[in-house]
Amino acid sequence: MICDNIRTGKNGHLYFAGQDTVELAAKYKTPLYLMDEDKIREKCRIYLDAFEHFLPEGSRPLYASKACSFKQLYRIMTEMGMGIDVVSPGEIYTAKEAGYDLTGAYFHGNNKTDQDIAYAMDCGVGYFVADNMAEVDAIEEQAAQRSCIQNVLLRITPGIDPHTYDAVSTGKVDSKFGSAIETGQADEITGYTLTKSHIRLCGFHCHVGSQVFEEDVFERVARVMLEFVRDMKERYGFVASQLNLGGGYGVPYIEEDAGLDIAEKIRSVGRVIADSCREMELPLPAVMMEPGRSIVADSGMTLYTAGNVKRIPEYKNYISVDGGMTDNPRYALYRSSYTCFIANRMDEPCDMTATIAGRCCESGDLIQRDVKVPSATTKGDIVAVCTTGAYNFSMASNYNRIPRPAVVMLKDGSSYVAVQRESLEDLCRNDI
Ligand SMILES: *Cc1c(COP(=O)(O)O)cnc(C)c1O
Repeated sequence: MICDNIRTGKNGHLYFAGQDTVELAAKYKTPLYLMDEDKIREKCRIYLDAFEHFLPEGSRPLYASKACSFKQLYRIMTEMGMGIDVVSPGEIYTAKEAGYDLTGAYFHGNNKTDQDIAYAMDCGVGYFVADNMAEVDAIEEQAAQRSCIQNVLLRITPGIDPHTYDAVSTGKVDSKFGSAIETGQADEITGYTLTKSHIRLCGFHCHVGSQVFEEDVFERVARVMLEFVRDMKERYGFVASQLNLGGGYGVPYIEEDAGLDIAEKIRSVGRVIADSCREMELPLPAVMMEPGRSIVADSGMTLYTAGNVKRIPEYKNYISVDGGMTDNPRYALYRSSYTCFIANRMDEPCDMTATIAGRCCESGDLIQRDVKVPSATTKGDIVAVCTTGAYNFSMASNYNRIPRPAVVMLKDGSSYVAVQRESLEDLCRNDI
């Protein structure tokens, strides 16, 4: 199995986090997001332990909210002692409502509006990651109005291509994010920011992409960023106290994907940082990373009920489910791979190839093409899609006026609702 929280029970049902998914589907109805709370905590602990052992003092992992954001997740992050990154007033509000201490939050985005900046400052967000010069001006102006000094990091584009898919690749020079080292703009924005009296420049941030598996991307990124830190020290006498390397470690979605040993990866990044700082005579910066997917992806599973099973002789078989691109747009967006099971037929041979289709009025509304399933699969069966904890709930929409599913957390053999299923009334809440 792609993750150790998935197995087949003696009754031929799919078990997730030790619980019978067929029973969970009956209890909470479908479509349904499940989240394995114990797995989320386990993943946080891997990062926290590795940071403590292998990175300089003051280093901290920050959970990237955009992977999945609802109040209960921030309560878990508080309990675990994780920092967070946020990209919108909505994520800030959600964290605040959950009682998360926002002094540990980093505010990202390539186009923060003046209202966004004001809201984040009023909420006491600890760090702003400024994308460009105009944003530095806007932060300075609002901090001056409040007579406060805002901690800021600058988003730098290191010019490294992590060879992941284009839509999630962000570290190349022509990216819409940040200021590139290669064009001299990173240097320029550093000098400019240092002239601002209501900004405390803490260091630099970069994020090169997502679902990164390539061998030494983060080691190379750390090296390039530290060379930039050295150059800024030489040029402006500015010594960065923080280096934020962003998120991006990949997770396996199908059997053929290899897993990553995150602790081992962080250990080797730590070595590069220690060696580079010694060689460049730089003090060790506190190092941040922003894992999103690798914290929550395999803690998630989506359950659907099969509706029509359509066989088009000599062409294709379709299993249509009661959800689709509204709760998981990733196949439609990126052709993402997923492992799918018929949760109540785990002991039957998979002797039929079928495409799992959503219920929306779009031919592109598919969950996965050409999945192997038992040929007896029929209406009423439970279809499980694995590894949906990241970028599913957070990317969900109400297209076709379909209410968003509930999120049910699984913990220590019990379950509870963390986000209620949207109702039809919810859909019309803001309509006049
Ligand atoms: C998307 C993103 C992350 C998280 O990436 P994952 O691949 O989910 O780990 C972290 N930081 C920034 C700035 C991002 O844009």
